[in-house]
Amino acid sequence: MNRIENEKRVIVCMIRIYCLKHHHQERLCDECQQLQNYALNRLSRCRYGENKSFCNKCPTPCYQKTHKDQIRRVMAFSGPKMLFHHPIIALKHLLSSAMG
Ligand SMILES: [Zn+2]
Repeated sequence: MNRIENEKRVIVCMIRIYCLKHHHQERLCDECQQLQNYALNRLSRCRYGENKSFCNKCPTPCYQKTHKDQIRRVMAFSGPKMLFHHPIIALKHLLSSAMG
């Protein structure tokens, strides 16, 4: 599995955990669904793909300002829970793209 696909899985899991705990929906609520679509879309278009290393220097950041705040909240909540299931390396790109 390549890096971007791995990151997609991670972000999907994170949003699901976040929505479950905050919005108490059986399925993703509209807001979280939108955020997930956005995040997956951005990851697909990431121009540096497999070779990407420095998100904060990327001229086309994965997340725009508004969504960045949402993603950040999701990561702050779900991130620590994810570390038990996924290697930390999988989170590095996600974190740097949300912080950058
Ligand atoms: Zn939700």
